[in-house]
Amino acid sequence: MGVPLKQQVSVGWYIIRQRLAGRHRYPLVLFLEPLFRCNLACAGCGKIDYPDAILNKRLSVDECLAAVDECPAPVVTIPGGEPLLHKDIGAIVAGIVAKKRFVYLCTNALLLEKKLALFTPSPYLTFTVHLDGLKEHHDRAVCQEGVFERAVAAIKAARAKGFLVNVNATIFDNMAAEDVAAFLDYASADLDIGAVTISPGYAYERAPDQAHFLKRGKTKQLFRDVFKRGRGKRWKLSHSTLYLDFLTGNQQYRCTPWGSPTRNVFGWQRPCYLLNEGYAKTFKELMEETDWEGYGTGNYEKCADCMAHCGYEPTAVADAVRNPFKLLLTKLRGVRTEGPMAPEIPLERQRPARFLFESMVAKAVTPDGPPANESRSAEGRRASA
Ligand code: SF4
Ligand code: SF4
Repeated sequence: MGVPLKQQVSVGWYIIRQRLAGRHRYPLVLFLEPLFRCNLACAGCGKIDYPDAILNKRLSVDECLAAVDECPAPVVTIPGGEPLLHKDIGAIVAGIVAKKRFVYLCTNALLLEKKLALFTPSPYLTFTVHLDGLKEHHDRAVCQEGVFERAVAAIKAARAKGFLVNVNATIFDNMAAEDVAAFLDYASADLDIGAVTISPGYAYERAPDQAHFLKRGKTKQLFRDVFKRGRGKRWKLSHSTLYLDFLTGNQQYRCTPWGSPTRNVFGWQRPCYLLNEGYAKTFKELMEETDWEGYGTGNYEKCADCMAHCGYEPTAVADAVRNPFKLLLTKLRGVRTEGPMAPEIPLERQRPARFLFESMVAKAVTPDGPPANESRSAEGRRASA
């Protein structure tokens, strides 16, 4: 079972409280990016293409803990960049764990063994190690030989010291179904980990390799072919059953971008972890003033092929809470890998992509500070209408 029972109960209770309070939009996972600097340069990464003035910025311990206080999400994921490059990462994690939030520290693991002494094992802390497949695929994805072996050695070292460890795999279109299945066999049987998170890569506009992002149709067929090979196997997947049913083309879901709000060195990123269209100064402003209807598949060109777990897992979880019998049935019969797929969301009315990156970065490196609200905020949309 992917997600520990303690976390399932805590998150379930949080969702019930939100629903009883009549909240339609609420966060599930806070993505806290304390820096963008990384010690790798992966071909599919859209997070590190910044000038040094931005790569040298850090969120302080106080800023990280203030973000956790602002945003009530029960789970805090710490991606980057490489969070282990942050000199205060031990204090940041300890502070969040003390608030009883479930922390997932995402790392490429190159520094993990060396930095383990900064952390204390806890049911609230999981290291999520980046592994995009078996050795050949992973080393190619991260553009460096030998990283797979170092990541596996770090996983073993962390487990030996009593830490919880997961693996996070991003899938690109140069991976065949049998390769993904072989990776899931290996990760589930040979690695002593809790679970694997698996997601099609989002087509970051700043990623060096634009040729290998999966289109929606291909994603669904690939995951059908993968899960056909998984029948009867006990793959340790961290996802909800209905998200997997969505990946295999059986659910027509709209994303829930507010489910995964993102705080980084610029501010609160609009609209989600994947898409950078400007910033709000506070979490409240992000939730209340973002034009959520302007995003998502069918609404915006940059969202057309997105099926990433951070956007759709909150949708699947909400669907499961609303439709427990659908969840039960899908669990009992397994994710369907044959037959007609759910209709695709039409794209004819999506608005064209806007390219704001250069101007946002230019503003962020000026003495006036980071850009706030250079985005499709509801107010801005009305003004330009
Ligand atoms: S994908 Fe992760 S490990 Fe690779 S360059 Fe980007 S932040 Fe670093
Ligand atoms: S589809 Fe949703 S989750 Fe994906 S990039 Fe667009 S707004 Fe973000």
